[in-house]
Amino acid sequence: MSDAEKPNWLVTANQFRFNPLTGEKVQVSTERLSRAWGGEVSVHRVEEIAEYLPDCPFCPGSIRKSGEKGPTELSEHPYAFTNDTAALKPPAEGAAQARYSDDTGIYQAETAYGACEVIIHHPRHDLTLATVDREHAVKVFKLWANRYKELGERPYINYVNIFENFLFGSSMRHPHNQLWASSLVSPIQEKIFSNMATYKKKTGKHLIQTIAEQELKQQERVVFENEDFVAVAPFWAVWPFEMIILPRKPKNSLLDLNESELLNFTNAYITATEKLNALFGGDCPYSSGLYQAPTDGGDYDGVMYLMFRPPVLRDIRTMKWMVGYELMSMPQRDLTPEAAAFLLRNPDGWEEFKTKFIYNA
Ligand SMILES: [Zn+2]
Repeated sequence: MSDAEKPNWLVTANQFRFNPLTGEKVQVSTERLSRAWGGEVSVHRVEEIAEYLPDCPFCPGSIRKSGEKGPTELSEHPYAFTNDTAALKPPAEGAAQARYSDDTGIYQAETAYGACEVIIHHPRHDLTLATVDREHAVKVFKLWANRYKELGERPYINYVNIFENFLFGSSMRHPHNQLWASSLVSPIQEKIFSNMATYKKKTGKHLIQTIAEQELKQQERVVFENEDFVAVAPFWAVWPFEMIILPRKPKNSLLDLNESELLNFTNAYITATEKLNALFGGDCPYSSGLYQAPTDGGDYDGVMYLMFRPPVLRDIRTMKWMVGYELMSMPQRDLTPEAAAFLLRNPDGWEEFKTKFIYNA
C-alpha cells in the first residue's frame, strides 16, 4: 500500500496491528485514549546521586558476594565478570545435555546451560552511558562485541542475550548491564529469525532494512536517525514508548560494525535514552536488548537490531502493567505509536499532541 492509500481509520479506529518480526498482534485502542490520558506528565526533580557508595557491590574497591574485588582504575573499565548468582552455568566437564520427555510427549524438559556475566561500565556510581565520555561509552559496546564472540564460540552456547535494565525493578543504579548466554535460542528469538528468513526468501530483501526504508519514507514514526541507524516507534509496538533501532545496512552482530558504525551505534543508544529522559523530565527506566545472530552454527543474514522497552505508561512514576486481558489474551495499548513518536521527537509538544492525537476530547 502506498502512503496515499493509507486509510484514515489507522489514526482513529480501534485496531489490531501485526508485528512482522514476531508474527504476533497488538491491540491499539485509540478510542480509549481520550478517557485514559489527559496528556499531562509530572515533572520530576533530578535527584542527587553519590559518586561512590560504600555498600554498592559494583563501586571500586567493593568485595562482591563471590569474595572477588572489582578493579578500581578508570582504565580498567568497562569489565565483565561472571554473575555471582548466575541463572545459567556451563556444563560439567564432559557432560552432555540431558533431555526428558514422558510417554505422551506432553511433558518435556532439557538441562539448561550457559553463562551469565555482568558488565560494569564505569567506576563512578552516579554516571550513565549517556553521561560518561562518549569515547568511554564506545568501549562498553566493544566489550559487548568481544563477549558475544568469546561466549558464542563455546560449544554449549547458542544465543548470547545482552541487555540493560536501567532503574528497573531491583536493578542497581551503578552503570552496568547483563549478559545471559544460553544453550537455548528462545522461542521468541527463533520466531523472529525465522520470520526474517522467510521474508528474505520471498522478497530477496532484508526485513529490518525494509522496515527502516519504509519508516524513513513515511517519517511519522521516526524518532531520530544518524548516518548508520534509524530509531522508530514501531507500528506494532507493545509498550507505549517502545523504540527499535535499525541499522541502515544489514548486520548480524556488533562484530560487523566498523569504528564509525560502532560510534553511531553508541550515539543512537545514548540518544534513545536522552529522548526518554527529555520527554519525562528525569531518568526514565528502560530495558534495552540487542538482537544478534544466534551462535548455533545456523545461517543468519542481517538479523541485528536493538530494542528499547521502557515500562512506563504516561510518566516515569506510572508503570504499565501487563494484567487481565493482556496476561490472558494479547497486549493492548491506547496511545498510538505515531503519537508516541511525536512526543519523543517533541518533548515540549504536549499542547500540539492533544489537538493532533486525542480525539473526542
Ligand atoms: Zn556503585
